[in-house]
Amino acid sequence: MIKIAVFAFNPFQENTYVLSDATGECIVLDAGNYSAAEDNALVNYLNDKNLKPVMAVNTHGHVDHMLGVEQVKQTFGVPFALHGDDAFLVASAQQQGEMFGLRVRAIPSVEIDLKGQAELTFGQTTLRIIHTPGHTPGHICLFEPESKALFCGDTLFRESIGRTDLPGGDYSWIMNSILKKIVPLGDDVELYPGHGAKSTIGHEVLYNPFIVEVLRGDVNYKEV
Ligand SMILES: [Zn+2]
Repeated sequence: MIKIAVFAFNPFQENTYVLSDATGECIVLDAGNYSAAEDNALVNYLNDKNLKPVMAVNTHGHVDHMLGVEQVKQTFGVPFALHGDDAFLVASAQQQGEMFGLRVRAIPSVEIDLKGQAELTFGQTTLRIIHTPGHTPGHICLFEPESKALFCGDTLFRESIGRTDLPGGDYSWIMNSILKKIVPLGDDVELYPGHGAKSTIGHEVLYNPFIVEVLRGDVNYKEV
C-alpha cells in the first residue's frame, strides 16, 4: 500500500503528490511548489516523515505542474521523469510562464523518458503508466492497483475534464483516453487529479457532464 500526501501549490492550486511506501522511498509527482514557503512545506514533510525521494515525475509538462521540479531535483539529487511527447512543453516553460503570469525559476532537464514505458517503480511499489493524450500529447496517469488509486493529472477532474485548447490539446483524444483507458479501470478506483478534490471513477461516470454527454450519445466524439 502506498501513502499519499497532497499539497495544493502555486496560484493555480496545483496538486503536488508525494507517494511513499513502507520502505521510506517516495516519488514527488507534479512538483508545483513556487514560493519559499511552499518549498519548505514540501521539504519539511519529506524530512519529518524520513522519506527518501528517488524521482521527480510529472503527469505532463504544463508549467503549473513543473514550477518546483528543479528545486526538488537540486535538493534531493533525483532524476526527472516525463513522457517524451511533452518535452516540447518543458522546453517552452518560460513562454508558458509568461502566458500564465508565473515566474519560472529554472527549466528542469528530463533524465527519464517514460514514453513506451509500462511501469514505474520506487521502494516496493510498482505503478502502472497509462498514456492518456488529449490535455497534452504526452500526458500520463499513474495507477497503483493495490490501493486502486489513479493519479490522473489534468486528464480528468471531479465533474470536469482538462482543457484541450492549449498547444497539443485535442478533445477527441482526451475523451478517448478517459473512456477507453480510465473508465475501464473500474468504478471503485479513486481519482487523484491535478487540481481540485478527489473523486472516483464511479462518481464520474454518473456525474461528469463531459462523460455523460458522450455515453448518452448527445455528443459524438471522433474515436481515435
Ligand atoms: Zn495541465
